[in-house]
Amino acid sequence: MKNRILLTALLLSVFVLIGCFIFVRPTEHTETFFAMDTFMSVTAYGRQAEEAVLKVREAIIREDALWSVTNERSDIFLVNRKGSGEVDSETAELVSFALDMAKETGGALDPTVYPILSEWGFTKSEHNVPSEEVIEEKLKLVGYERANVRDNTITLSEGTQLDLGAVAKGFASNKAVEILTKNGVNSALIYLGGNIYALGGKSDGRPWLIGVQDPVALDNVGVLELVDAAAVTSGNYERYFTADDGTTYGHIIDPATGYPVDNDLLSVTVVSPDGAVCDALSTALFVMGSERAEKYFLSHSGFEILLITKSDEIIISSALAEKFTLADRKNYTVRVI
Ligand code: AMP
Ligand code: MG
Repeated sequence: MKNRILLTALLLSVFVLIGCFIFVRPTEHTETFFAMDTFMSVTAYGRQAEEAVLKVREAIIREDALWSVTNERSDIFLVNRKGSGEVDSETAELVSFALDMAKETGGALDPTVYPILSEWGFTKSEHNVPSEEVIEEKLKLVGYERANVRDNTITLSEGTQLDLGAVAKGFASNKAVEILTKNGVNSALIYLGGNIYALGGKSDGRPWLIGVQDPVALDNVGVLELVDAAAVTSGNYERYFTADDGTTYGHIIDPATGYPVDNDLLSVTVVSPDGAVCDALSTALFVMGSERAEKYFLSHSGFEILLITKSDEIIISSALAEKFTLADRKNYTVRVI
């Protein structure tokens, strides 16, 4: 009898323990998918993780369908074809943001660069080196002041066309964070191509560790500790082509010249709680080159930077330097600003 009571008690405690484990253990859910021309992956922790991550995936797929320059039914395709049009409120918000950042960066970021980009063939992967005459001609159509947003209507000057490739993923990462937090998630890692957003810390409370890609090798130059912040990297090593004469041309265009950026920078990483700002600035600072980028950083606030130069230098802002660990066996010199 006594043995039976003991056995029952033992079994009961085992069931209770298993129950507690299932109930208390943080659940994790990951979705990987292809959107906005890149591989994406969203991992969230918490009891509502699965539901929240599925909502994020749905939102990004919807945004891709609105903002793609090649999808004939997208808001951007229609506005580019017709020169004006009423768009989804999120599209209007994004274009408005991109135009503000274009002004703010003196046109280093310019969402009207599409006529030039398509001559270089980057949008359709049919690469081509345009003649100087063509570049000169198409440059006349580029300029953020040639695009306008009022309410949900976008208007473009004759021949001007938009491309949101430099800002869409960062903007989408902010929207993803909104969706996750609204759905009870406070620990997640959102990876949208070169755009990363670390929501909260890891499920154990420690910071997320994010590798910063070495632009000339397949590994990382180091790792960043991130909590509630985005890290976005831009560089011409990400997408480029090599012409018949051996010259390589990258996908980030200097809107002042119409040619792919070729300055002293290999990559720019921007860290801030605002993913859209990170995305806009990583592209813009890459266009500027290290000297102008450093000046821009010193005269603005709300973000941190890590620049990698062709002379093997890492230029890093002081607050970010505290969260950065250089990988072993890397020959970069680090300069803190
Ligand atoms: P990112 O990877 O965020 O730096 O964005 C690069 C993408 O933005 C390119 O693939 C083009 O679609 C587009 N783009 C290239 N140059 C510029 C520029 N100067 N301003 C705005 N968008 C650009
Ligand atoms: Mg960008």
